[in-house]
Amino acid sequence: MLDELKQYAKAYSIPIICDDGLLFLKNTIEKHHIKDVLEIGTAIGYSAIFMAKQGCFVTTFERNEKMIQEAKKNIKSFGNQIELICEDALLYEGSLRKYDMIFIDAAKAQYKKFFEKFSPYLNENGMIICDNLNFHHLDSTKVNRNTRQLMNKIKQFKEFLINHQDYETTFYDDGDGMSITKKVVKK
Ligand code: SAH
Ligand code: MG
Repeated sequence: MLDELKQYAKAYSIPIICDDGLLFLKNTIEKHHIKDVLEIGTAIGYSAIFMAKQGCFVTTFERNEKMIQEAKKNIKSFGNQIELICEDALLYEGSLRKYDMIFIDAAKAQYKKFFEKFSPYLNENGMIICDNLNFHHLDSTKVNRNTRQLMNKIKQFKEFLINHQDYETTFYDDGDGMSITKKVVKK
C-alpha cells in the first residue's frame, strides 16, 4: 500500500517524505515509545499511514482540497488511528489533545508559525520533528527569487530554534534535513 502511494506521489509530483526520512521517523517513534502524533501537512496520507503502521495515533492537518480527497481514500482502513482535519492548520480553532510528537511538514515559509501555535500541545517529554530543513540542498545562488526567499525563511526558522530559551534542538542530515526539538528541562 505504501509503495503504491509512493508511485502515485512520484507521478503527480507530490512532495512526500523520502525513505531515509521515514526511517528517521521509525527510529524516533521506537526509541521514544511515541504513541500520539500531530502532523501538519498530510498530502495523500503517506507519512500518516506509515506512522499508523508503527502503532501511532495520528491527527493530521491538510488544507488542499485535492489532497484531502486522496488522503480520505487512502486512510479509510486506518479510521481508528488516523484523524484527518481538513483545514488550514493555522486557522484551526478547535480543540486538540496533547501529543508525544508533532511532525511539521507543511508550507516551509510557515514553520515558525506552526511551531508557535502547536508547541503548547506537546506532552512534557514530547518532541517536535521538522522535515525538509536542508531544502533539497539547493544552491541559493542558483535558484529563483521565490525559492531563495523560502530558503531564507527556513534559515531564519533554524536560528529561531537554536536561540529558543525553552527548547533545545538537534539537527540531522537524514532525509532532506530533519530536526528534533525538546523542551528544556528546568532544574
Ligand atoms: N507529510 C506528507 C507530505 C506533506 S506535503 C508526507 O510525507 O507524506 C505538504 C502538505 O502540507 C501539502 O499537501 C500542503 O497542501 C499542506 N499544507 C501546507 N500548508 C498547510 C497548512 N497551513 N495547513 C494544512 N496543510 C498545509
Ligand atoms: Mg517533507
